[in-house]
Amino acid sequence: MRLFFFSLPSILTAALAAEYAIDPECELALGPGVRDGIISGMKEAVELAENALEVLNQHESDVYVQNLIRYLYGIQDRDQIMDRVKGKKPQTHLSATPSALSTNDEAWFNGAERSSNDVGLYCSNTRLIPHPTKPALRMNKHNRPITVRAKQVEALFKCHNHDAVLEVGTNQRYTKALTMGSYTIDLEAFKAAPGAPPLNEFKVGTGHPANIDICSVFIRQAALEGWPLINEERIARIRSETFINGMTDIQRPVDGIKTFGVTMFHELTHANIGGFFTDADDIMEGEDPKCFNWISCTRLSTLPGGRTNSDTAAILVMLLKAWRLGYYVDQDGFAHPRI
Ligand SMILES: [Zn+2]
Repeated sequence: MRLFFFSLPSILTAALAAEYAIDPECELALGPGVRDGIISGMKEAVELAENALEVLNQHESDVYVQNLIRYLYGIQDRDQIMDRVKGKKPQTHLSATPSALSTNDEAWFNGAERSSNDVGLYCSNTRLIPHPTKPALRMNKHNRPITVRAKQVEALFKCHNHDAVLEVGTNQRYTKALTMGSYTIDLEAFKAAPGAPPLNEFKVGTGHPANIDICSVFIRQAALEGWPLINEERIARIRSETFINGMTDIQRPVDGIKTFGVTMFHELTHANIGGFFTDADDIMEGEDPKCFNWISCTRLSTLPGGRTNSDTAAILVMLLKAWRLGYYVDQDGFAHPRI
């Protein structure tokens, strides 16, 4: 039987300690303080995972924890989640602090100690070099076995447009980040496996770090807000009448808790260390938004794609932090003090 994939244990209990490194362009191109902001967000992402494992281990029978899991995963998955995390000691295996290396260092992408559980965080396209013979492709010099295709190149250049600005006062949507795991497919194992399992399950790390490209508008937005973390103040904000009245009809108050760190957790679930979760676009085709935020994720709970949907996992860890701070969330995504 296939195991239920759940990102938390893999982020926290990978066999070897994994590291992340930061592109120097984050600070150079986007301004002072950005590197520190990214570090605080990564620390929050790791702490969210730790907290979630602790709460799931120690407060399994809490009615609010049970309800939350039911809203996001359906009632059956509650037991599966518990099976996966029960007894696992929360230990941080993605370092909460950055590597001494930068993503520009040869040793970062070619070092003997590197693994595909490591993650390079990029704020620029400086690593993309033209393919020697095929104009539509770029080589990723930090991740040599992988060629980046024209469509991806386009998305990456849009993501790293340092001049892009967000229109103030609109609910303009934009790409926050793009994650590329570092893998090849074990085709032999795939062909030998009975019952046509998803190809995703046969991804094998290349030994080179995975990459997360953090988009300029998203970084600027986080900087503008002062790199908030999830705390009492953040939750009080989404409970205010002003916030609730300002929501669009596809938003719920809990969506406003999301921080840079929650998004980094989301991205990490796409990478090798997070078990290659996906954005369940295929399931919610034509819906808007497809797989992000409370409304979509609670609807996905009854569909197979919900189990490995990145934002579902991100919302779970985010709301288990809110639980720790003394709040529970109802089915409609409103937060209330827990009794
Ligand atoms: Zn995603």
